Amino acid sequence: MRIQADQSKCQGHGLCRMSAPDVYDSDDEGQVVLRFTGDIPAELEDAAALGVESCPEVALSIIDD
Ligand code: SF4
Repeated sequence: MRIQADQSKCQGHGLCRMSAPDVYDSDDEGQVVLRFTGDIPAELEDAAALGVESCPEVALSIIDD
C-alpha cells in the first residue's frame, strides 16, 4: 500500500497530519509531505487510510499494488 498526494489539490488544512502524524507531515507552507514515498509499513496502513479519509480536498489516494 502506498499513498499518493496531489499537491495541486492540497489546501494545507493539515487534517491528514492531525489524523495520522506518523504518516503525514507538512512543509513550511502547510502543504502535505508524505513521510513514506514507498510502501507504508503494515502497522501504519490504518492510520494512512484515516488520513486519506480526513482530507476534504480529496488530495490523497491509496495505491494498492
Ligand atoms: S488534509 Fe488534504 S488538503 Fe489538508 S494538508 Fe492534508 S492533503 Fe492537504
